[in-house]
Amino acid sequence: MVMKPFAQFISLAEAQSAVQQVLPVPEREWVAPEQAYGRRLAESLAARTAHPSATESALDGIAARLEDTRMASEQSPVTLRGVGESRAGEAYSGEVGPGECVRIYTGAPLPSGADAICPVERLEFGAEGEVRLLAPARREDVRPLGDDFVAGDELLPAGVRLTPARVALAVAGGHAALPVRRRWRVVLLSTGDEVRAPGTPLNPGEVYDSNRYGLRGLLHECGAEVLDLGHAPDSVNDLAARLDAAGGADLLLTSGGVSMGRYDFMRDLLMERGEVTFWKVRLKPGGPTLLGRWNGLSVLGLPGNPVSSLVVFELLVRPALTGEELRTVRLRAAAPFAAAGDKVAFWRGELRGGEVAPYPKQSSGVLRSLSDARVLVRVDPGQQVQAGDELDVLLLD
Ligand code: AMP
Ligand code: MG
Repeated sequence: MVMKPFAQFISLAEAQSAVQQVLPVPEREWVAPEQAYGRRLAESLAARTAHPSATESALDGIAARLEDTRMASEQSPVTLRGVGESRAGEAYSGEVGPGECVRIYTGAPLPSGADAICPVERLEFGAEGEVRLLAPARREDVRPLGDDFVAGDELLPAGVRLTPARVALAVAGGHAALPVRRRWRVVLLSTGDEVRAPGTPLNPGEVYDSNRYGLRGLLHECGAEVLDLGHAPDSVNDLAARLDAAGGADLLLTSGGVSMGRYDFMRDLLMERGEVTFWKVRLKPGGPTLLGRWNGLSVLGLPGNPVSSLVVFELLVRPALTGEELRTVRLRAAAPFAAAGDKVAFWRGELRGGEVAPYPKQSSGVLRSLSDARVLVRVDPGQQVQAGDELDVLLLD
C-alpha cells in the first residue's frame, strides 16, 4: 500500500485554515425577506428609497409655523386656527399660513408652510377649529426626509448575518428580495459498531448516538442544510458505500473511527482509498481529527468522543461555515488551569461571579462537562495559568 504524504500534528490555526479552504464562499441566491433570517448577505445592500420618504411628524399633535408658537405657555396659551389634517398615507395638500395649524399624526407628511410640531398633550381644542397651544411647537419633533437613510446609502455590508433588525432595514430600503449566500450542504454520518439509535435497547458497552444530535444542532445553528446519512458499522466496505452516497454535498462530517485504534476504519478508508489532507491536530480534546477527500467530497472526520466531536466543531467547523471569528472574551481564572504539553487545550469552564473555574471532570467522555459549561477555556502550550490570571475564553452560548 502506498500512502500519499499528509500533514500531521498541525497547529489549530493550520487546521482552521485547511477546513476554511475546503469551504470557499458559496454562491449567491435570492430569497424573500421572510426567508432571509439568519442568512449571510452575499453582497452589500444600498437603499433604493429614502427613509422616511417625506419630512414627517414624529408625534400626534398639530403642525404649525414655529414663529407663531414661540410665546405659548400654560399661563398664556397661543391660539391658532385649524385648517385641516395630515395623516399617515394622506397628506394635507394646502399650505399652512401664519396663525394657522393642521392636525397631524405620527408618520404623516409635514404640510408646506409648517416647520414644527406641538404634541397633542399640550393642546386644547376649542369651538370652530380653534386650537390652543400650552407650549411652543418643536422642530425636533419633525423627522426630516431621509433622516434614517437616502437612496444610494449603503445599508449593510456583504457577509453580515441577517438579524431581524437587518431584514427590517433592507425592507425599509426598498428590497423585496435579498441576495444571500447559498446554504452549505453538510452530510452527517456516525460510525461505530457500538453506536445505537435513541429509543432502541442498549447493551453494556453500547452508546446512544448522541454525537449526531449535538452535531445536527450545531449545523442548524450555523444555517447549514443537513443531510443525515445515519450510522455505519465499523467496516471499510460499509463506510465506502456510505461515502459514495454523499455526493453533491459541500462537506461530510463523520464522528468516530479516526483515532489510533485497530477498528478506526474511517482513518484507514481515507488513507488507503481516499486522500488525507491532515491527521491529528495539536489540540485537546479533539487531537485525532482528520481532514480528507473521497471522490471529490471533503470529509472532516471528528473523533467519536462526545466532547471532542462538539469541541472540534466549535473550533474548526463553525468559523468555516459562518465566516465568523471565534467568540472569545478575556476572563480571570478562579483557579489554576493546566497546559496540555504541546497541545492547545480547551477546558470546559464554569462561570463564577465573573471568573472562570474548571469543570471538575475534564474527560472527553463526560458529556455533562460540555452541557453544564458555558465556556471553553483556552490554555496554550507552556502557558501557566494561576488563579487571578486573565485568559482567553470561548463563549459557547
Ligand atoms: P472512536 O473515536 O470511534 O474511537 O470513539 C471514541 C469514543 O466515542 C467511544 O467511547 C465511542 O463509543 C464514542 N462514540 C463514538 N461515536 C459516538 C456517537 N455517535 N455518539 C456518542 N458517542 C460515540
Ligand atoms: Mg469507533
